[in-house]
Amino acid sequence: MLMSRKFLKVKCGKCKNEQVIFSSPSTTVKCLVCGEVLAEPTGGKGTLKTKTATAMR
Ligand SMILES: [Zn+2]
Repeated sequence: MLMSRKFLKVKCGKCKNEQVIFSSPSTTVKCLVCGEVLAEPTGGKGTLKTKTATAMR
C-alpha cells in the first residue's frame, strides 16, 4: 500500500459526523450526512475546512 497520502479523521462542524478523508484530496470532499464541504483541493494540496482534524497513521 502506498503511504504517500495520509488519512485524516475529521468531524463535520455542522452535524458532528466523523469521516476519514485524504489529507490532500484531489476533489472536493463533502460530508456524507449533510453535504457540508469538509475539504477542497487547492493547487494539489488540500485545504481542510473543518476545525478538528486528527492525523491517522
Ligand atoms: Zn455533516
